[in-house]
Amino acid sequence: MKQANLHQEHQTLKSQYDFLINQVRQNEQKLLRIQQQEIRFISSNSLSDLIHQILENYRLESELNSVTLSLIDPEYELQRILQKTGSNMKGNQNLFFYENEQEIKKFFGSSLSPNLEAYNASIHKFLFPENQEENGSVAILPLIRYNNLIGSLNLCSSNRARFLPNASTDFLQRLATIISICLENTVNHERLKHIGLTDTLTGINNRRFFDQRIEEEISRSRRAALPLTCLLLDIDFFKRVNDTYGHQIGDRVLIDIASIVQSQLRSFDILARYGGEEFVILLLNTDTKEGMDIAERIRKYIASHKFHFNDRQQIEVTISIGMATLDRENDHNGSKSSSHLLINNADKALYQAKEEGRNRTIF
Ligand code: GH3
Ligand code: MG
Ligand code: MG
Repeated sequence: MKQANLHQEHQTLKSQYDFLINQVRQNEQKLLRIQQQEIRFISSNSLSDLIHQILENYRLESELNSVTLSLIDPEYELQRILQKTGSNMKGNQNLFFYENEQEIKKFFGSSLSPNLEAYNASIHKFLFPENQEENGSVAILPLIRYNNLIGSLNLCSSNRARFLPNASTDFLQRLATIISICLENTVNHERLKHIGLTDTLTGINNRRFFDQRIEEEISRSRRAALPLTCLLLDIDFFKRVNDTYGHQIGDRVLIDIASIVQSQLRSFDILARYGGEEFVILLLNTDTKEGMDIAERIRKYIASHKFHFNDRQQIEVTISIGMATLDRENDHNGSKSSSHLLINNADKALYQAKEEGRNRTIF
């Protein structure tokens, strides 16, 4: 009898032990997965990559029904970064931008603590536009840096019991903190890159940016067997503008010309300030004929434009343009020096445009 009891007790203990060991193993696995996910967030090398990690990888890893991200972006800086880096994240329907914190703040009390509750369409619908039939419970986590709300991470599970109002939020708060820091880091990183690749006077790309991009664009055009046209623009007699109106007015003419040229281009063309009063443009997927049309449109626009910076002066300037195209006919060698060749040819054409009297485009 006593032996039977002991045996019974032993069995019970053993199964409790197995259960606990099993739980520990599961928790270990879970922790490992969380760590790996955190490493992926931390190693993101761009804002676009980080957002992709959050919206796609994290959702899959965590078996969530939906993950969305709200970001406060009063000066459209984040949106500009995504646009400028050619990211397809900007139009993602799970990414929201707000001009101020009002819309996000209403989910949290003044303590800015996580909000866990059952899914309620009338409150949460707009936060989770996808798979709405399956929504069960939500966790809305404030993203905070230096006591400022910078956005929210919005998690939605199909399991109604996953996010309960009184559950512990340690893990979720840690996640939100790491994501907040990573967001700040990637944005700072993008800012630095931007400063290094932007011309401080005109705000357009600088020569360094252009030198990198031309190599990439030549390879891309080759792979896709598409023509690539390069325009070199030089302001005519710009020294006279400086001499007549002063260097500061000269600067303002440069700024205006940069923005006029930019406005005449398609969103995928690449414009950079190449040197003092020279600009360079890469027209993607553009042959000589179309390139000539674009060049002439820009040249004529500037020739007819009246620059005025105060009531007294009306300044007129013209530009000369040299053009060269890289296409299958002339791209025989496929060598690395194609970028030099392309720019050299455009430069020769520009020289000729100057020789022949300026205010013209030469191919
Ligand atoms: P051309 O028609 O032959 O091009 O005549 P140009 O006077 O434009 O040519 P040149 O190359 O002799 O002079 C270019 C002038 O551009 C000289 C320089 O003072 C001026 N310049 C270059 N960078 C800047 C700048 O950042 N601001 C101002 N205001 N002037 C600049
Ligand atoms: Mg020049
Ligand atoms: Mg000039």
